[in-house]
Amino acid sequence: MTIHNPPSPVPETPAQSSGTSGPRSLRRHPETIALHGGSFRFDPVSGAVAVPIYQTTSFQLPGTEGADKLFALEAAGHLYTRVSNPTQDAFEQRLAELESGAAALALASGQAASAFAILNLARAGDNIVSAAGLYGGTWALFAATLKSFGIETRFVDAADPEAFARATDDRTRAYYAESLPNPKLEVFPIAEVAEVGRRFGIPLIVDNTAAPLVIRPLEHGAAIVVYSTTKYIGGHGTSIGGAIVDGGTFPWKDLANRFPTLHEPDPSYHGKTWIEKAAAIDFHPYILRVRAVLLRDIGAAISPQNAFQFIQGLETLPLRLRQHNENAVKVAEFLKNHPKVSRVIFPKFQTGAAGERAEKYLRNGYYGALVGFELRDGREAGRSFIDNLQLLYHVANIGDARSLAIHPSTTTHSQLTAEEQLATGVTPGYVRLSIGLEHWEDIVADIAQALEAA
Ligand code: PLP
Repeated sequence: MTIHNPPSPVPETPAQSSGTSGPRSLRRHPETIALHGGSFRFDPVSGAVAVPIYQTTSFQLPGTEGADKLFALEAAGHLYTRVSNPTQDAFEQRLAELESGAAALALASGQAASAFAILNLARAGDNIVSAAGLYGGTWALFAATLKSFGIETRFVDAADPEAFARATDDRTRAYYAESLPNPKLEVFPIAEVAEVGRRFGIPLIVDNTAAPLVIRPLEHGAAIVVYSTTKYIGGHGTSIGGAIVDGGTFPWKDLANRFPTLHEPDPSYHGKTWIEKAAAIDFHPYILRVRAVLLRDIGAAISPQNAFQFIQGLETLPLRLRQHNENAVKVAEFLKNHPKVSRVIFPKFQTGAAGERAEKYLRNGYYGALVGFELRDGREAGRSFIDNLQLLYHVANIGDARSLAIHPSTTTHSQLTAEEQLATGVTPGYVRLSIGLEHWEDIVADIAQALEAA
């Protein structure tokens, strides 16, 4: 299995700050990394410059001695596509470099990424502290499924970073939050909560699905980033996938009591600890263990075909985000002046602490492409608006090239109680839009006619 997937070395020539990377290194711009990041340059067999889809389950092993080393994780190479594959590897390297991370693991879905990100650290009897503003599926994972595994989630208000400290005890293994949680669309205080985590030796895991490149969690102190690559990274609504990116700087090795999964001997690897295994190959213990234990045992592997789709998606991600953002601003401004709309939820319009965080964390004047609004006439008006749309699709997704709309309280968040819905920011008249790449005038025209009819 290829476990060594650090980004390719810093290029010699454009020794120029990327404008998106922090002080870590002088790096190429994201537009360039999206096309060239990682060690893949061309296929050594055919010379193909596009990453081939290695549609194979298994890989020919070297002689028996080489095979021993591969299975013991002492040598880099692929064994079996459940655990690694060259197409997946190329995607992981490119994504890790784009995120200024050390290494990445691609998975079958965003849900697998968030579940594995936690299960890599927490076991029965442990807890995590999470911001309450979460995607409904993540909420259900934490509040019900992880609970049934004996892992407690303590939900706190993201607006109060010290709430994370108050909810922490000796069995707390991670903090978790979305960088730009919908439906509230208030940017999470990444640096502030990462700082609280440093006091206790707890990593902050940030789901950056709604804001790749726009928010840079690792540069603000997060330890791990997770993605549903299904959204903006894929970009075309064709493929389900997820990823975990390890920033490579969290001091796991110094925190033996806090992280037993990394520090206790693992019987399935001859009684070695993951700290030892990683040190032996000069790699990162967190991301090494997710692959070698959770992906090995639970599966949730990304298919080579989907890994290819996400490589394609990355290539145009910076370009697409620019247009998504421009269109979203136009739509938000239109809604702000509409008499049937009581409130528009969009980072550009936020004031107070939320406005300050939007200013601090959102880059280059981007606000993301999610726009929420509330209809004055509540739930029935929200439903009627959706039913009258002609151009925008009514689907439970975000980050598609097409514009999408949904009424969360009766769909994505319907499994939550009314109280839980309000805690995540879903009111009865709330409509969420994911603004796509159509001409903005056509998007606005469709919204205008659906509002008239609502
Ligand atoms: N995280 C966020 C913020 C999401 O919006 C979603 C899906 O909507 C997920 C995670 C789950 O991703 P997937 O559908 O790829 O499993």
